[in-house]
Amino acid sequence: MIPFTCPYCETEFEIAEDQVYCNCVKCGHRLDLESQFAYLRGLDAFTEGQDLIQAVSPRQRRRLTNAQDRQAMRMFMEAYTALQVAFRQELEAGQRALGIEMMSSMAGEFMKRNMVSTVEASYWNTLLVEANAHSEYDRIKGRLANLHGPLAFLIHLRLWLALPYFFAALRVTAPLSLVGAVIAEWTGASSGLGRIMWLAYSNLNLPPMFAAVFLLSLSGMSAYTVIVWLEKCVLRWNG
Ligand SMILES: [Zn+2]
Repeated sequence: MIPFTCPYCETEFEIAEDQVYCNCVKCGHRLDLESQFAYLRGLDAFTEGQDLIQAVSPRQRRRLTNAQDRQAMRMFMEAYTALQVAFRQELEAGQRALGIEMMSSMAGEFMKRNMVSTVEASYWNTLLVEANAHSEYDRIKGRLANLHGPLAFLIHLRLWLALPYFFAALRVTAPLSLVGAVIAEWTGASSGLGRIMWLAYSNLNLPPMFAAVFLLSLSGMSAYTVIVWLEKCVLRWNG
């Protein structure tokens, strides 16, 4: 008999050495033992290989022929093969996610040493991206399920997602609104920059006119700067 831990409920129990399948004594999940042991072998070999690679200094890493690197690659090959066996059967979600991560990381290292084709490495990479996207999607879906009412949905998701576009529009319209106000003042106002410009233009008095133009562009630039600063404060997560 050998000890075994259920990946679903983490209950420890004993199994016979020649057993192929077993049902967990607590949660009742049917477990394929060949795949489970292959996964554990793969995890061990990967950890060992990872430790070896991390022990190699970055300068040495450029020369890929040293003994430690070769040993690490041997461990990785072992892990790679074992995990391929493990993936043939259904794995627990956490095992599957970690397995894909390990495969992708190893395939990347193999590719640097021309040990696998680009296609194979990119396959694991794509799978990793897809698995991450799935878990992210589930997380968002879970969060949305916890919200109540249409307003909560609007505030929690839509408003935040719309903010970058809102600020982009504000950046364009803030200086333009000043120009609009000045043009409106030209058509008839008792005071304001537009009025000064119009009077100066009618009297051919150029210095006040250029002063007004200068003030107008200065306020346009300040409005733009203020909005960019505000955007940076509000949308920290947007980079
Ligand atoms: Zn269990």
